[in-house]
Amino acid sequence: MHYFQYRDRALHCDEVDVREVAEEVGTPLYLYSHRTLLRHCTNLHTAFGDTPHLTCYSMKVNGNSTILRLLAKEGIGVDIVSGGELYKALRAGFPPDRIVYAGVGKTDAEIRYALEEGILSFNVESLPELEVINGIAGRMGIRAPVGLRINPDVDPKTHPYISTGLKSNKFGISSARALESFKWAAEMPHIEVIGIDAHIGSQITTVAPFVESAEKLAGIVGSLKREGIALRYMDIGGGLGIPYHEETPPEPSEWVEAVLPAVNSTGLKVIFEPGRAFVGNAGILVVRVLFVKETEHKTFVITDGGMNDLIRPSLYNAYHEIWPVERTHADPIVADVVGPICESTDFFAKDREIPRPERGDLLAVMSAGAYGFSMASNYNARPRAAEVMAREDRFTVIREREQYEDLIRGEES
Ligand SMILES: *Cc1c(COP(=O)(O)O)cnc(C)c1O
Repeated sequence: MHYFQYRDRALHCDEVDVREVAEEVGTPLYLYSHRTLLRHCTNLHTAFGDTPHLTCYSMKVNGNSTILRLLAKEGIGVDIVSGGELYKALRAGFPPDRIVYAGVGKTDAEIRYALEEGILSFNVESLPELEVINGIAGRMGIRAPVGLRINPDVDPKTHPYISTGLKSNKFGISSARALESFKWAAEMPHIEVIGIDAHIGSQITTVAPFVESAEKLAGIVGSLKREGIALRYMDIGGGLGIPYHEETPPEPSEWVEAVLPAVNSTGLKVIFEPGRAFVGNAGILVVRVLFVKETEHKTFVITDGGMNDLIRPSLYNAYHEIWPVERTHADPIVADVVGPICESTDFFAKDREIPRPERGDLLAVMSAGAYGFSMASNYNARPRAAEVMAREDRFTVIREREQYEDLIRGEES
């Protein structure tokens, strides 16, 4: 569900005419719907009802500070994967006791920073990491709160590049070693073991893999209890899919209903870490058509946005709907919608039927709010796009378009 809709012929975001934003801010630009974002936030945050829970937004998905501040104000927490994300999360107003920190490669400096700030918990991904955290906390004269991230070996049936809970993936500690790892951690003098965690992948569109993973975690929690190791929380990760095209992912409430028996069997507080489900359908990428190029084989619609702005199609062969910002009566054509970057993987859509656009027309690449701007780069020396938030009938630039000078910062003095 989102609030990008046509009024007459013109695409609107909340009450804002997308054409007006493009005129004023230029293209390419990311445009976010405040109303959609809040709606998703409420749906996710209330899904667990009375069950003690902490909703942690996975900020790698979209780390714009305005979006972070908005979510922090709604009382949710944040799931981070780097020191930079910790810095942004704190600046945006997330209290440290609502921050969980995952990632297989935390540096000593990042671990120290997170300990100094007093985050809720590290989700630890290996035994060597645990040893390092123990050592650093020892030198600081404190105990580090940790959860162990377990790799439950569950197939999330999503794109292989976004599976994270298979035994061939680099994430977490295998469930076979879970018990011994927890015992080992519990004996470390500067570690306080408070949680268990799993995150099995992204863009998951059925509940079964979540249930399987939560049940495996609950089983481990039971074994730990019998060993006298009592935890405080069970973190069941993120990964809730969204509709990009024809997918019908479960609603947050259906998803909660499915995992709740496993969660309740432990009596622990539940943490969950959705990312994409918050922002994916709350954002679009608006691009302008530069050329329509016909070859003997194909028609290419060449836009001023490219894979440096939105890499998901190139990286995961992801499907994004392409909508005309202004509806016309033009006949449909089948075309590749591509960018200006010097790579053949620079495309937004392949062999897609769209109304024939003309030079200067605006196109909206839909469902671009998650893993969109946060994965953008300066490849081909392209300044990164502007980000804009529409709210009711107004819009605000929430990140300025980069300028050429930004491209040489730190290279010339
Ligand atoms: C990326 C990530 C998430 C969020 O995944 P979504 O599919 O965007 O919901 C949650 N937890 C961890 C540890 C992650 O790395």
